[in-house]
This record gives sequence, structure tokens and C-alpha cells, in this order.
Amino acid sequence: MKYLIISDIHANLEALEATLAAAGAWDRVLVLGDLVGYGANPDAVIERVRALPAATIIRGNHDKVGAQLESVDSFNHLARYAIAWTSATLTPDNKSWLAALPAGPAVIDDLVEICHGAPFDEDVYIFDELDARRAFTVMQRPLCLYGHTHVPAAFRFDGDMTALGPPRGPRFDLTLDGARYLVNCGAVGQPRDGDSRAAFGVFETDSRTLSVLRVPYDVATAQAKIIGAGLPEVLAQRLAIGR
Ligand code: ZN
Repeated sequence: MKYLIISDIHANLEALEATLAAAGAWDRVLVLGDLVGYGANPDAVIERVRALPAATIIRGNHDKVGAQLESVDSFNHLARYAIAWTSATLTPDNKSWLAALPAGPAVIDDLVEICHGAPFDEDVYIFDELDARRAFTVMQRPLCLYGHTHVPAAFRFDGDMTALGPPRGPRFDLTLDGARYLVNCGAVGQPRDGDSRAAFGVFETDSRTLSVLRVPYDVATAQAKIIGAGLPEVLAQRLAIGR
């Protein structure tokens, strides 16, 4: 079984299409939330994800606010502006589909579980070893995949904890041994690790090998759409620098 792992698409259709093209064939896609917010194509991204066969999808914080399940109080002014625009733009059908997405964590199989922020709270960011340690106490599978920070990272726990990341370069591979792993495969639509390329993951259950991969996409078109939609220019600029 080959899983494609995508998170934090953020209404960036160009990054999503480049990722799907680069991923090749897969058996199941795991979508870790934040389909919308920041980018200019929330409806097109939702429709593309809805059409994917064999998908397991959980919601992110931007999906909740975009679907008006939660207020914008926790958002900074940029995120707030973008999500208000998103809510006003979404078709009623896409908005109710978004509102119905389940919260994580979700157990996928004997090896894998997924969450948006952390396995103990979908909205919490896992940044450091202290956060990771808390996640290891509640995760139910050897491999827990998370998103939300937009920064690839990997932690290994076998009684002692090791930070293996952040994974850099064209790819990062790890093979599951007897230890447990907490891995962020990065953001498709708004990377924040200084690398502008879309980030995603692939996990092969037979070989137990997880790869974090990067693919360039048409940043200029995504930026032009953001500016054309009247969204803040800084949301376009940050895509070029991966911040
Ligand atoms: Zn996000």
C-alpha cells in the first residue's frame, strides 16, 4: 500500500496540481487539513480534493473557520482577512462539505495515524521536543503524521527522543524500525522552511519507508491570483521565499 500524504494546501491550486503530478500512482491519499485560507482558489482546491479517489481527509483550523464553525478570534490579521474572503467566496456546497470534515486524530491502519496539529489537540502546534514528547504519550500507532506548522520535521522515540529533522534537500527518507515516529511532511501550499517548493510525503507500508519530497510549482501564477483576488500582497510574496 502506498499512501500519499498532503497537508496545508491553503487554496493553492498550482502547488496541489504539481504535487499530484509528482506523486505518481498511489493507493490512498491522506489529507491532513487546511485545504483553504491564504490562497486564491479555495473552491477549486476543494473540488480537486473531493474528486480524489480513496481519500481520508481531516480538517484543519482554517477549514473550521472558513466553514464558519469557529470564530476568527485565534487568527492574526492576515489570516483573518484571508479567511473572511474565503468564507465569502466558497460555494454553499463546498462550505457545507468543509464543515462536515472530521477532526483528527484518525487511525489509518496498524502503522499510521494522522492529525492536523497534534494527536492530543487538532489546533496545537508541534514545534519542539517538548511538544513532541507530549504527542508520543498519546499517539496510538508507530507513525503519527501531522501538519499545521508548515515545516517538515521528524522525531524518533524509543524511550529516548531524537529530533531527526528538519528534513532538508530534495528528499528525506526514513524506514520504520521498532521505534515510534512523529513526522511532518511539510506544507503543499505555503511552505515556511525557507524552501518555496511544495512539500509532501509518500509512505510505502510494505517497506515501511516514508519519504518527504519537494516539487517546484508555478509560484508566479499562484501569486498573480492572490493579488488579482484583492488578498494582501504579503500572502503572495511569502510564497516565493517559503516563509
Ligand atoms: Zn496551515
